Amino acid sequence: MTDNTLDHWVDGASWAGTGTRTGDVYNPALGTVHKQVRFASTDDVAVVVESAAAAAASWRDTSIAKRQTVMFAFRELLNQRKEELAAILTTEHGKVFSDALGEIARGMEVVEFACGLGQLTKGAYSENVSTGIDVYTIRQPVGVVGIISPFNFPAMVPLWFFSVAIAAGNAVVLKPSEKDPTAANWLAELFVEAGLPAGVFNVVHGDKEAVDALLTHPDVSAISFVGSTPIAQYVYETATAHGKRVQALGGAKNHMLVLPDADLDLAADAAVNAGFGSAGERCMAISVVLAVDSIADEFVAKVSERMATLRTGDGMRGCDMGPLITRAHRDKVASYLDLAAEDGADVVVDGRGIEIDGDANGFWLGPTLVDRVPTSSAVYTDEIFGPVLSVVRVEGYEEGLEIINGSRYGNGTAIFTNDGGAARRFQREATVGMIGINVPIPVPVAYHSFGGWKASIFGDAKAYGPHGFDFFTAEKAITSRWLDPSHGGLNLGFPQHD
Ligand code: NAD
Repeated sequence: MTDNTLDHWVDGASWAGTGTRTGDVYNPALGTVHKQVRFASTDDVAVVVESAAAAAASWRDTSIAKRQTVMFAFRELLNQRKEELAAILTTEHGKVFSDALGEIARGMEVVEFACGLGQLTKGAYSENVSTGIDVYTIRQPVGVVGIISPFNFPAMVPLWFFSVAIAAGNAVVLKPSEKDPTAANWLAELFVEAGLPAGVFNVVHGDKEAVDALLTHPDVSAISFVGSTPIAQYVYETATAHGKRVQALGGAKNHMLVLPDADLDLAADAAVNAGFGSAGERCMAISVVLAVDSIADEFVAKVSERMATLRTGDGMRGCDMGPLITRAHRDKVASYLDLAAEDGADVVVDGRGIEIDGDANGFWLGPTLVDRVPTSSAVYTDEIFGPVLSVVRVEGYEEGLEIINGSRYGNGTAIFTNDGGAARRFQREATVGMIGINVPIPVPVAYHSFGGWKASIFGDAKAYGPHGFDFFTAEKAITSRWLDPSHGGLNLGFPQHD
C-alpha cells in the first residue's frame, strides 16, 4: 500500500475501513499507476450505512429553507472550484480538460435544478372530497440511498443522483467507479464546506463486494445505478429482490440517421463530435451512422476530412481527444478493427499507430471510421465504447428506422434532415428514450428527465428532472376530518362520500 491511497469518506471525514484489498488507479495518458484506492469489505459498507441512516434521521427533519441554503452554497463552491475538479477528471479518466469542464457544467445544471426542492417536493391538496373531509399528499425522503456510478462520468453521473437525493432529504452512500474514484471524495468534501451535516453524503470505494453489500443491506431503501447493461440488470434484479426501489441505467448503441436532404456539413460535424468526444466513452456517443446510399460516399468523405484535423493526446495539452480508460479496454476496442476487416467492412480511417501528442505509454487509439459495416457483425451489435464510428448504408428512412428499432438498446438516437415531416415521424416511431433532431447527443436539460428504453434501462424511473424527485421521495396520502361543532353521533357503516 502506498502513502497515496484514497480512503472512503464517512461521517464527514476520511476513513480507511477494515477491508484489506486495494485497486490501482491509472493516469491513462501516461499509462502509469497514479494512486491506489481502498476496496470496502461487506463490514465496511455496514458501518457506512449505519452512519448514513443516523444522519438521514435528522436531515429529513431539516427544513426546506435550510436544505436549500446548503444546495445553493454547494453550487457556488462547485462553480468557483470547477477547474480543480476538471484536472482530477482529466488525470484519472483521460478526457480532455475542456470536455471535463463540460461534464461538470452538465452536472452542475442538476444541482441548480435541485435547488428548487421546495417546488419539487410539494404535494397536492383536495378540499372537501366528502363533506368536511380533505385529502392531501406529502412527499417524504426514502432514507438511505445507494448510488453506483460508472467510470465514464466520474463527476456528472454522481451529481445527477446525489444532488436530487440530498435535496429531497435523504442520506447517500456513493460507490463510484474504482477506475477514477478521486472526484467522489472531492465532491463529498466540498459538500461539507457548503454546510452539509456529516454523514449525509458518504463515499465507499470498491468493487462487486461493496456493490453487493449495498444491494442487499436492509437499511438501504433505494439504489441508483449507471453502468453496462449486464451489471444494470444484475443490480436491478438483486436490489428489487431485497425490497428496494431501483433505477438502473445500462449501455447503449446510438444511431444517427442521415437523410439525403440533410445539411451534410452539419451532419458530418455532428458525427465527428458525437463519435469521438471523450474518445467515444459516452453512453450518448454516436457509434453508428445510418447513411442513405445516395449521399453515403459524400458523407464518408466529409467525416474522414474532419477526422484528419483531430489531435489525439494528453488532455492537458489542448488536444481534441484523450486516451482510453485502461490498456485492456484499449486493446479490446482495437480488436474490433481486425474483426471489421474479417466481416467485410472497410476500415476507412485506422486509429492504430497514429501520431500522439503525449506519452507513448498512454492507452491510445486514434479516431477510427469503419464503413459498410454489416449489421450481423459484432462491430455493429456490441457496445464498443471507444473512438470507433461505424457507417451502415441504408436505402432510406424505412430501412434506417427498422435497424434502430431492431437494436436491443434504446438510449439515444438522432435524425439529420431538413424535412419536418420525416423528423416528426421519427420522433413518433423510434423506440428510443431520447431523440435528437439535428442534435447528435440529446441529453435532456436538468428539468426534463434522462433515460433510455429497452436494455438501456431497468426500472421505470429515469435520472434527475421530475422523475428524480419522485424516485427519491415516497408519497403519502392523508385523509383528514376535523370535527366541528355540527358533528357527533355514532355510525358503524363503511365510510361513504356525502
Ligand atoms: P460497469 O458496468 O463495468 O461498472 C459500473 C459500476 O458497477 C462500477 O461502479 C463498478 O464498480 C460496478 N460493477 C462492475 N462490475 C460489477 C459486478 N460484477 N457486480 C457489481 N458491481 C459491479 O460500467 P463502466 O465500464 O464503469 O461504464 C461504462 C458503461 O456504462 C457503458 O456500458 C455505458 O454505456 C454505461 N453508461 C450508461 C449511461 C446511461 O445513462 N445509460 C451513462 C454512462 C455510462
